[in-house]
Amino acid sequence: MGYNVAIDGPAGAGKSTIAKLLAKEKGYIYVDTGAMYRALAVHFLRRGIKPQETEKIIEAVKDAQVGICYEDGVQQVYLNKENITSQIREEAVGQMASMSSPIPEVRAKLLELQKSLAKEKDVVMDGRDIGTNILPNADVKVYLTASVMCRAKRRYDELTAKGTSCSLEEIEEAIRERDERDMTRKTAPLKKAEDAVLIDSSDMTIEEVVEQIVKLCR
Ligand code: C5P
Repeated sequence: MGYNVAIDGPAGAGKSTIAKLLAKEKGYIYVDTGAMYRALAVHFLRRGIKPQETEKIIEAVKDAQVGICYEDGVQQVYLNKENITSQIREEAVGQMASMSSPIPEVRAKLLELQKSLAKEKDVVMDGRDIGTNILPNADVKVYLTASVMCRAKRRYDELTAKGTSCSLEEIEEAIRERDERDMTRKTAPLKKAEDAVLIDSSDMTIEEVVEQIVKLCR
Protein backbone atom coordinates (compact mmCIF):
# COMPACT_ATOMS: atom_id res chain seq x y z
CA MET A 1 0.00 0.00 0.00
CA GLY A 2 1.33 3.44 -0.90
CA TYR A 3 1.29 6.45 1.40
CA ASN A 4 -1.90 8.32 0.51
CA VAL A 5 -2.79 11.99 0.88
CA ALA A 6 -6.37 12.96 -0.08
CA ILE A 7 -7.28 16.56 -0.88
CA ASP A 8 -10.93 17.37 -1.53
CA GLY A 9 -12.69 20.67 -1.96
CA PRO A 10 -14.76 22.85 -4.27
CA ALA A 11 -13.73 24.18 -7.69
CA GLY A 12 -11.11 26.90 -7.56
CA ALA A 13 -9.92 26.28 -4.00
CA GLY A 14 -6.37 25.70 -5.29
CA LYS A 15 -6.31 21.92 -4.88
CA SER A 16 -4.26 21.15 -7.98
CA THR A 17 -1.68 23.91 -7.42
CA ILE A 18 -1.20 22.84 -3.82
CA ALA A 19 -1.21 19.12 -4.59
CA LYS A 20 1.43 19.53 -7.31
CA LEU A 21 3.73 21.46 -4.97
CA LEU A 22 3.21 18.96 -2.17
CA ALA A 23 3.93 16.07 -4.56
CA LYS A 24 7.17 17.74 -5.64
CA GLU A 25 8.31 18.46 -2.10
CA LYS A 26 7.52 15.00 -0.74
CA GLY A 27 8.24 12.90 -3.85
CA TYR A 28 4.65 11.69 -4.20
CA ILE A 29 2.82 11.20 -7.47
CA TYR A 30 0.10 13.75 -8.10
CA VAL A 31 -3.18 12.22 -9.24
CA ASP A 32 -5.71 14.71 -10.61
CA THR A 33 -9.03 12.84 -10.58
CA GLY A 34 -10.92 15.83 -12.04
CA ALA A 35 -8.87 15.27 -15.21
CA MET A 36 -10.34 11.76 -15.46
CA TYR A 37 -13.92 13.10 -15.32
CA ARG A 38 -12.87 15.69 -17.89
CA ALA A 39 -11.53 12.92 -20.18
CA LEU A 40 -14.93 11.19 -20.11
CA ALA A 41 -16.55 14.58 -20.76
CA VAL A 42 -14.44 14.95 -23.93
CA HIS A 43 -15.70 11.52 -25.04
CA PHE A 44 -19.36 12.57 -24.51
CA LEU A 45 -18.91 15.93 -26.23
CA ARG A 46 -17.24 14.30 -29.24
CA ARG A 47 -20.33 12.15 -29.63
CA GLY A 48 -22.50 15.26 -29.68
CA ILE A 49 -24.17 14.32 -26.39
CA LYS A 50 -25.74 17.08 -24.31
CA PRO A 51 -25.14 17.17 -20.52
CA GLN A 52 -28.84 16.43 -19.84
CA GLU A 53 -28.86 13.26 -21.99
CA THR A 54 -28.22 10.80 -19.17
CA GLU A 55 -29.19 7.66 -21.10
CA LYS A 56 -26.81 8.49 -23.92
CA ILE A 57 -24.02 9.18 -21.41
CA ILE A 58 -24.58 5.80 -19.75
CA GLU A 59 -24.38 4.11 -23.15
CA ALA A 60 -21.31 6.07 -24.28
CA VAL A 61 -19.35 5.47 -21.08
CA LYS A 62 -19.23 1.75 -21.94
CA ASP A 63 -16.74 2.33 -24.74
CA ALA A 64 -14.52 4.90 -23.09
CA GLN A 65 -11.19 3.85 -21.62
CA VAL A 66 -9.39 6.44 -19.53
CA GLY A 67 -5.69 5.98 -18.89
CA ILE A 68 -3.14 7.95 -16.95
CA CYS A 69 0.60 8.06 -17.30
CA TYR A 70 3.38 10.42 -16.28
CA GLU A 71 5.90 12.18 -18.51
CA ASP A 72 8.61 14.03 -16.59
CA GLY A 73 6.32 13.82 -13.57
CA VAL A 74 3.42 15.50 -15.38
CA GLN A 75 0.13 13.61 -15.59
CA GLN A 76 -0.95 12.74 -19.11
CA VAL A 77 -4.56 11.74 -19.73
CA TYR A 78 -5.54 9.26 -22.39
CA LEU A 79 -8.96 8.59 -23.88
CA ASN A 80 -9.07 5.32 -25.83
CA LYS A 81 -5.27 5.47 -26.20
CA GLU A 82 -5.25 9.07 -27.54
CA ASN A 83 -3.45 11.69 -25.46
CA ILE A 84 -6.09 14.37 -24.83
CA THR A 85 -4.29 16.29 -22.06
CA SER A 86 -4.33 19.56 -24.02
CA GLN A 87 -8.11 19.42 -24.51
CA ILE A 88 -9.44 18.88 -21.03
CA ARG A 89 -9.22 22.41 -19.61
CA GLU A 90 -11.84 24.02 -21.84
CA GLU A 91 -14.86 25.54 -20.08
CA ALA A 92 -17.35 23.33 -21.96
CA VAL A 93 -15.41 20.24 -20.86
CA GLY A 94 -15.50 21.38 -17.20
CA GLN A 95 -19.25 21.95 -17.42
CA MET A 96 -19.84 18.55 -19.02
CA ALA A 97 -17.61 16.90 -16.38
CA SER A 98 -19.56 18.53 -13.58
CA MET A 99 -22.92 17.58 -15.10
CA SER A 100 -22.01 13.98 -15.94
CA SER A 101 -20.04 13.15 -12.77
CA PRO A 102 -23.19 12.57 -10.63
CA ILE A 103 -24.15 9.58 -12.83
CA PRO A 104 -23.20 6.37 -10.95
CA GLU A 105 -22.04 4.59 -14.14
CA VAL A 106 -19.62 7.46 -14.83
CA ARG A 107 -18.18 7.30 -11.32
CA ALA A 108 -17.96 3.50 -11.40
CA LYS A 109 -15.86 3.71 -14.56
CA LEU A 110 -13.12 5.64 -12.74
CA LEU A 111 -13.26 4.06 -9.30
CA GLU A 112 -10.87 1.15 -9.92
CA LEU A 113 -8.35 3.31 -11.77
CA GLN A 114 -8.20 5.74 -8.83
CA LYS A 115 -7.98 3.02 -6.19
CA SER A 116 -5.30 1.06 -8.02
CA LEU A 117 -3.05 4.10 -8.45
CA ALA A 118 -3.18 4.75 -4.71
CA LYS A 119 -2.50 1.12 -3.89
CA GLU A 120 0.68 0.93 -5.91
CA LYS A 121 2.24 4.31 -5.26
CA ASP A 122 2.71 7.15 -2.76
CA VAL A 123 0.16 9.63 -4.04
CA VAL A 124 -1.47 12.94 -3.36
CA MET A 125 -4.87 12.64 -5.00
CA ASP A 126 -7.26 15.54 -5.38
CA GLY A 127 -10.95 15.55 -6.19
CA ARG A 128 -14.36 15.71 -4.54
CA ASP A 129 -14.84 12.32 -2.88
CA ILE A 130 -11.30 11.05 -2.30
CA GLY A 131 -11.30 11.21 1.51
CA THR A 132 -14.93 10.14 1.83
CA ASN A 133 -15.20 7.45 -0.82
CA ILE A 134 -12.15 6.51 -2.86
CA LEU A 135 -9.49 6.39 -0.12
CA PRO A 136 -11.38 6.27 3.19
CA ASN A 137 -8.17 5.04 4.90
CA ALA A 138 -5.90 7.74 3.47
CA ASP A 139 -2.97 8.60 5.76
CA VAL A 140 -3.72 12.33 5.52
CA LYS A 141 -7.04 13.95 4.55
CA VAL A 142 -7.47 17.62 3.80
CA TYR A 143 -10.61 19.56 2.91
CA LEU A 144 -9.37 22.65 1.13
CA THR A 145 -11.79 25.50 0.60
CA ALA A 146 -11.98 29.28 0.16
CA SER A 147 -14.84 31.76 -0.06
CA VAL A 148 -16.80 31.91 -3.34
CA MET A 149 -15.70 35.50 -3.88
CA CYS A 150 -12.06 34.61 -3.39
CA ARG A 151 -12.23 31.61 -5.73
CA ALA A 152 -13.99 33.70 -8.38
CA LYS A 153 -11.36 36.45 -8.12
CA ARG A 154 -8.52 33.92 -8.53
CA ARG A 155 -10.16 32.48 -11.66
CA TYR A 156 -10.82 35.99 -12.99
CA ASP A 157 -7.15 36.98 -12.49
CA GLU A 158 -5.99 33.76 -14.16
CA LEU A 159 -8.17 34.36 -17.24
CA THR A 160 -7.39 38.07 -17.60
CA ALA A 161 -3.66 37.29 -17.27
CA LYS A 162 -4.09 35.02 -20.30
CA GLY A 163 -5.79 37.88 -22.16
CA THR A 164 -9.28 36.32 -21.96
CA SER A 165 -11.96 38.92 -21.30
CA CYS A 166 -14.49 37.78 -18.70
CA SER A 167 -16.94 39.01 -16.09
CA LEU A 168 -16.27 38.51 -12.39
CA GLU A 169 -20.03 38.23 -11.69
CA GLU A 170 -20.46 35.49 -14.30
CA ILE A 171 -17.52 33.53 -12.91
CA GLU A 172 -18.93 33.87 -9.39
CA GLU A 173 -22.29 32.60 -10.57
CA ALA A 174 -20.72 29.62 -12.39
CA ILE A 175 -18.77 28.69 -9.25
CA ARG A 176 -21.93 28.85 -7.11
CA GLU A 177 -23.74 26.59 -9.59
CA ARG A 178 -20.87 24.08 -9.69
CA ASP A 179 -20.65 24.01 -5.86
CA GLU A 180 -24.37 23.40 -5.62
CA ARG A 181 -24.21 20.53 -8.13
CA ASP A 182 -21.11 18.90 -6.60
CA MET A 183 -22.42 19.19 -3.03
CA THR A 184 -26.02 18.11 -3.50
CA ARG A 185 -25.70 15.18 -5.88
CA LYS A 186 -26.82 11.80 -4.56
CA THR A 187 -23.71 9.80 -5.52
CA ALA A 188 -20.51 10.74 -3.69
CA PRO A 189 -21.31 14.40 -3.01
CA LEU A 190 -18.55 16.82 -2.13
CA LYS A 191 -18.32 17.04 1.64
CA LYS A 192 -15.64 17.13 4.29
CA ALA A 193 -14.71 13.68 5.60
CA GLU A 194 -15.14 13.62 9.38
CA ASP A 195 -11.44 13.01 9.88
CA ALA A 196 -10.25 15.55 7.28
CA VAL A 197 -8.37 18.67 8.34
CA LEU A 198 -10.23 21.79 7.16
CA ILE A 199 -8.06 24.45 5.55
CA ASP A 200 -9.64 27.71 4.38
CA SER A 201 -7.15 29.25 1.97
CA SER A 202 -9.02 32.57 1.50
CA ASP A 203 -6.42 34.54 3.42
CA MET A 204 -3.44 32.25 3.00
CA THR A 205 -0.64 32.15 0.47
CA ILE A 206 0.01 29.01 -1.54
CA GLU A 207 3.24 28.45 0.40
CA GLU A 208 1.40 28.68 3.75
CA VAL A 209 -1.13 26.06 2.66
CA VAL A 210 1.58 23.69 1.40
CA GLU A 211 3.55 24.15 4.62
CA GLN A 212 0.50 23.28 6.71
CA ILE A 213 -0.14 20.09 4.74
CA VAL A 214 3.55 19.09 4.79
CA LYS A 215 3.36 19.20 8.60
CA LEU A 216 0.48 16.68 8.51
CA CYS A 217 2.50 14.21 6.42
CA ARG A 218 5.01 11.69 7.75
O1 C5P B 1 -11.55 19.42 -10.36
P1 C5P B 1 -12.11 19.65 -11.73
O2 C5P B 1 -12.68 21.01 -11.95
O3 C5P B 1 -11.14 19.27 -12.82
O4 C5P B 1 -13.32 18.61 -11.83
C1 C5P B 1 -14.29 18.67 -12.84
C2 C5P B 1 -15.59 18.07 -12.32
O5 C5P B 1 -15.41 16.67 -12.12
C3 C5P B 1 -16.05 18.59 -10.97
O6 C5P B 1 -16.90 19.72 -11.06
C4 C5P B 1 -16.79 17.42 -10.35
O7 C5P B 1 -18.16 17.44 -10.70
C5 C5P B 1 -16.15 16.22 -11.00
N1 C5P B 1 -15.28 15.48 -10.08
C6 C5P B 1 -15.87 14.56 -9.25
N2 C5P B 1 -15.11 13.80 -8.41
C7 C5P B 1 -13.78 13.95 -8.36
C8 C5P B 1 -13.15 14.91 -9.19
C9 C5P B 1 -13.94 15.68 -10.03
O8 C5P B 1 -17.09 14.41 -9.25
N3 C5P B 1 -13.05 13.15 -7.57
